Amino acid sequence: MKNAIFGAMLVFGTAMFCGAAQAGGATHPSDDEVAYFQTKNIFHSGLVGTHTIALTFDDGPNQNTPAVLEALKAEGVKGTFFIVGRMARAYPDILARVAAEGHLLGNHSGTHPLLGRRYVNHPEMLLDQIRQVDVLITPLMAPGSKFYFRAPYGSWRTAHAAVLNADPELKKYVGPIYWDEGGDITKSSDGYVLSSADWDCWHRHWDADICAKGYLREIRRHDGGVVLMHCIHTQSAALVEAVVPPLVEEGYKFVRLDQVPEYKQYETPTPSEPVVASVGGGGSGTVAR
Ligand SMILES: [Zn+2]
Repeated sequence: MKNAIFGAMLVFGTAMFCGAAQAGGATHPSDDEVAYFQTKNIFHSGLVGTHTIALTFDDGPNQNTPAVLEALKAEGVKGTFFIVGRMARAYPDILARVAAEGHLLGNHSGTHPLLGRRYVNHPEMLLDQIRQVDVLITPLMAPGSKFYFRAPYGSWRTAHAAVLNADPELKKYVGPIYWDEGGDITKSSDGYVLSSADWDCWHRHWDADICAKGYLREIRRHDGGVVLMHCIHTQSAALVEAVVPPLVEEGYKFVRLDQVPEYKQYETPTPSEPVVASVGGGGSGTVAR
């Protein structure tokens, strides 16, 4: 299906990673410079090395999502679900359940297109893609909630940021949010799985336990991070069941994206903004190691 293009875009995303120098919060931007939607993917989560994990589940909801919710509930873990509008319109009850169970809803576009040149040439189409999800998730979010966007396939154009930031409603989003783990499958020379990407595991007909090894090894090597998964496959819940319990056992802390301190610098400033509790990197620098 779209695995080939997804794979290609992941390579593209990796290449972008090398070229994208993040400011790293070295200076405090003025209000005018706080860009909400950024001109490049936000690659730096600040969670690597902090024993803290933000699970993110893309492309849902669908009929396989409730099992993922059950698996998360069993471990008492909250995550972030990047919602596709087309899916949410087909499964409105499941969308509502994701929010009701304490997970954060994020925006992953209306129909999951590659947001390339076509959307630079047609900014109204870009606005429509983000708005399609915004109208579905905003009513389900608590007042004062933070809003995050992830680009389909990680594909983004510099020009998109200005278009979206000029919209009085949509400029509230922080993004595009990238990931630290789950981007691709890699193996050592002797065949050990070093990292996994769930969609590619299923494409290769791997079972969840094999796929989980790649996730676990990459997360442990990094000691935390933003983890990319999907909540729409028949194996999605089994993957959560294989990945999350060992990490809970090892003392990892699980957070939603609105508990990631690094992203705070990108938020739209508001006068009465409550202070988000510091997670991970603050103070002692590590959490429950
Ligand atoms: Zn996606």
